[in-house]
Amino acid sequence: MTTSDSEALAALCQFARLASHADLVMAVEVDAGGRATWAVSAPALPSPSFNLARSGILEARWSGEAMDAADFRLPTAIIHALEGRPARLLYVPAPSHGAPLSGLLLLWRSVPAPATLTAQVPLLATSVARLLSARREAARGTIVRNQFLDLFESVPAGIVLIDGDGIGAAVNEHAAELLGCTAGNHRAADLAGPMRALRQRCDNHAELELAYSAQMNNDQFAAKQNWTLGERTFEVDTHPVRGNGAHGRIWLFTDVTADLLMAAELRRLASSDPLTGVPNRRHFEECSAQIIAAREANGRAVAVLMVDVDHFKKINDTYGHPVGDEVLKVVAKRCRDALRERDLFARFGGEEFIALLAASAVDEIPAAAERLRSAVAAEPILVGSERVAVSVSVGGAIGEALPGGDQRLLEALIARADEALYDAKTSGRNRVRMAVLQPDLIDL
Ligand code: GH3
Ligand code: MG
Ligand code: MG
Repeated sequence: MTTSDSEALAALCQFARLASHADLVMAVEVDAGGRATWAVSAPALPSPSFNLARSGILEARWSGEAMDAADFRLPTAIIHALEGRPARLLYVPAPSHGAPLSGLLLLWRSVPAPATLTAQVPLLATSVARLLSARREAARGTIVRNQFLDLFESVPAGIVLIDGDGIGAAVNEHAAELLGCTAGNHRAADLAGPMRALRQRCDNHAELELAYSAQMNNDQFAAKQNWTLGERTFEVDTHPVRGNGAHGRIWLFTDVTADLLMAAELRRLASSDPLTGVPNRRHFEECSAQIIAAREANGRAVAVLMVDVDHFKKINDTYGHPVGDEVLKVVAKRCRDALRERDLFARFGGEEFIALLAASAVDEIPAAAERLRSAVAAEPILVGSERVAVSVSVGGAIGEALPGGDQRLLEALIARADEALYDAKTSGRNRVRMAVLQPDLIDL
């Protein structure tokens, strides 16, 4: 509320009082329920809030004539203010949009001489209505502004808000902490430095420069970028906002570190085998296609190795299932360590593992398979006090580009490696059998 609206209303009441010789004149804002939510009066009332709903005043047909006060049930606040019951009263409705019952209330302690009721008083209604409206608008503006400030400070995100004229800017606490400046109002130009400094501290600052550099003078520029600051990642959203001008813009910094960690953890859980920690079959199938597609870069030959623990059922039967589990973990680790970093190794199911290797020379592959086999069999696995002798059989299939595409090649390699594994099992176990896929022998 601007003081001037209230003062103007008070002056208007005072004028009405002088013109009408009323003892009390009040401009009352009445809500739809009949409550006077606000009033200004001459003389001033101690309490601005009272109820006119059951007074009869709001329903009466007012024609500019004062009526007998005994016909109305007046709120005690008014009787107190007058120090007794009035004799006459007059209500001049001053309806406005949003407050159709508001008006000007005049009260006389004794019956006034008719001449004192001047014709000017009803004419004041328009001014009263206009001033009450203005006051309401101002109050609403204050509420909206306060709500905005609450929101500005309570959202769990950093906000930099550039005014529509491009000159002023507001920075909330979170953003101030990030930018190393004070929260509150700033000149937009003074924030360019801290914003640039923050960007330059980001691990991915080259990428960010690329994204923003050409856009800094573009009022329509909108972008969402992750700013990585060591362990923390902020999603930084910027776009134009409707303000009082073309340059309004918001920068919103949301800390997405926890979300990203959780997403990565979910991805890891979805793609790895809980017992051994190596990738699961699903992950293998997803990644193998990429590796096969990229084989030009890694060498033309690709191979699948199927690895199956020998007589594993017997290990379970002899030492118990929990020991069997431990053995599987160690087997997985020994295989993984025997392979190169870029080879893909996964648990295919049960006591069976699978590897996908890319090599520049075909003869590298049997050697890799043999390394893997001997790494497992090298020494017994210690579980508690048990020493468990363990070995694996390996069936491998080596292939090159195949008509029919990568998926077809993978399927053919797995089928062929499975046959080779069977071969390794039947010819005594703890051995490697390799097959070379002949493109012309594949049934396409
Ligand atoms: P082979 O040398 O012919 O491969 O003989 P095997 O005993 O290893 O093969 P078989 O397929 O008969 O038995 C595999 C066993 O592996 C049966 C199953 O209970 C066991 N197994 C599968 N998954 C797990 C697991 O996660 N933990 C344990 N402890 N055992 C498992
Ligand atoms: Mg098996
Ligand atoms: Mg087995």
